Amino acid sequence: MKILSSICVFCGSSFGADPIFQEKAESLGKLLAEEKITLVYGGSHLGLMGVIADAVMKYGGNVNGVITTLLHEKGISHKNLTDLKVMENMNDRKAMMINMSDAFIAMPGGYGTLDEITEVLSLNQLSIIDKPCGLLNIKDFFNDYIKQLDHTVKEKLLRPEHRNMLVVDSEERGLLEKMRGYVRVDIGKWY
Ligand code: AMP
Repeated sequence: MKILSSICVFCGSSFGADPIFQEKAESLGKLLAEEKITLVYGGSHLGLMGVIADAVMKYGGNVNGVITTLLHEKGISHKNLTDLKVMENMNDRKAMMINMSDAFIAMPGGYGTLDEITEVLSLNQLSIIDKPCGLLNIKDFFNDYIKQLDHTVKEKLLRPEHRNMLVVDSEERGLLEKMRGYVRVDIGKWY
C-alpha cells in the first residue's frame, strides 16, 4: 500500500451546475483532513477550489496553495491557508504542485482541470513521475473523458496499460483506497 501524505486536487474554479459538486468537494476535503493528508491545490478561493480548501481547513487539516503572481495580484488567492506559494508563471506553478504531491485527484472542472490531470497522466506514462492519478467521477461527470481514452486505445494511440493507470471511483473513500493500492505500470510508452 502506498503512503499518501499529500494529494493535489484539480477541480473547477467555478461551482458547476449541480450542488452535488460542492457537497463532494466538501466531503473530499473533510476526508483528507481526517486522514491527515495535506491538500495541495491551485491556491484560489474561487468555485470548487475554494470549497475544498475551506473544508480541509475547517476540519483541521493542512492546505498548501500554489498560485501565480498574476492571479495573486488579481486578489484571487485564498487568504486562509496553511501555506501559499506564489510562482512566476503557470508552468512553474504546475511543476511545483506536481513536486509537492504524492498523488493527484481530478474532480469536475473545465479546461484547467482537464489539462492538469492529463499532464500528470502523461508524465506517469513517460516514467518521469510515478504517482497515482484518480478521477472522482461524481454524477458520471468524467464518463465521456474515459470514453475518449478507450477510443484512443482502440485506435492504438494509447496503450491499455497506460489507460488503466487512471483510477476511477464515484466515492472519495473508494477512490483513496484504490489509489493507495495503485501499482506502477512498467511498460514503454510506444507500440
Ligand atoms: P478550470 O477547471 O478551468 O476551472 O480550472 C481549474 C484548474 O486550473 C484548477 O485545478 C487550478 O489549478 C487551475 N486554475 C484555474 N483558474 C484558476 C485560478 N483563478 N486560480 C488558481 N488556479 C486556477
